[in-house]
Parts: sequence; C-alpha cells; structure tokens
Amino acid sequence: MTSENIPEKDWYEILGASPSHSMQELRQSYQRLARLYHPDKQHADAPVEELEECVQRFIEVDQAWKILGNEETKREYDLQRREVTMSQKWPVDAQVSLEDMHWIAADQCYTYDCRCGGEYVLSKEEAEENVFLLCCNTCSLSIEIVNTS
Ligand SMILES: [Zn+2]
Repeated sequence: MTSENIPEKDWYEILGASPSHSMQELRQSYQRLARLYHPDKQHADAPVEELEECVQRFIEVDQAWKILGNEETKREYDLQRREVTMSQKWPVDAQVSLEDMHWIAADQCYTYDCRCGGEYVLSKEEAEENVFLLCCNTCSLSIEIVNTS
C-alpha cells in the first residue's frame, strides 16, 4: 500500500501529456488514446496478451482523464505532484510556520532567510493555496511550511 498523499501514477505521462498542457490539449490526448486503446477498436484476432494490455491502458487512460479532466481533482493532483517532485529534488532543511516568516507588505509576500544567505519567498497567493514546500532562491535547500493554526 502506498500513502494516500503520494500519487501512485503519473497521470500526465499516461496521457502522453505534460502539466503545462491546457485542458483542451489534455482532452485531445485523452480522446486520441481512448480511441486507440478502446477494446472495441482492437482486431478480434489479436493475441490475448495484446488485448489485455489494451484494456489495461484503456482503464489507465480513463482514470487519468477522470483526475485531469476535472478542474478540482486536477488542482489537487498538481499540488500533490509538485510536492512529491520537489521533496525528491530538494532536501528539506527546516520546518517553518508562516508566523516565523517575515511579511513584506510592499511585495505582498513572506520571506525567510536561508542559512546560505539566500532567501525563501512565498507569495500571498501561494500561502493561500497551501503551498507546503519552498525552494531557496540561491541554493538547493527547501523548507516545509507548516500550518500552526
Ligand atoms: Zn539557500
């Protein structure tokens, strides 16, 4: 069993798409693959393993679209994906709460000093969107934003 917070599969990869694709592009990828792998579209005399593989792909493509084709679930998945990708890429240096950060009213953002001398910057929008991992703007460290309220 994998943790509920970690996406098991890369749904973008399954659709042959990328997170930067628009909803319309994602839909097109989905429709193309769904047609390609649709069980009714396979040759009746194709080997069983091939048919099974197609059914498997068809189900995956369908699951991917259920998540990525809906604004809400897509947003949730994007956040999870971003977090997982970032925590793999950047070691977490510290846990910091918003109260520990400095609010810069002029820039409408929070900042936090990194021990390298660089800075972590969290915009107001990001704070509201519950972004949990921040990268230093200078080194490869990151901090985890923890919710204390
Ligand atoms: Zn740094």
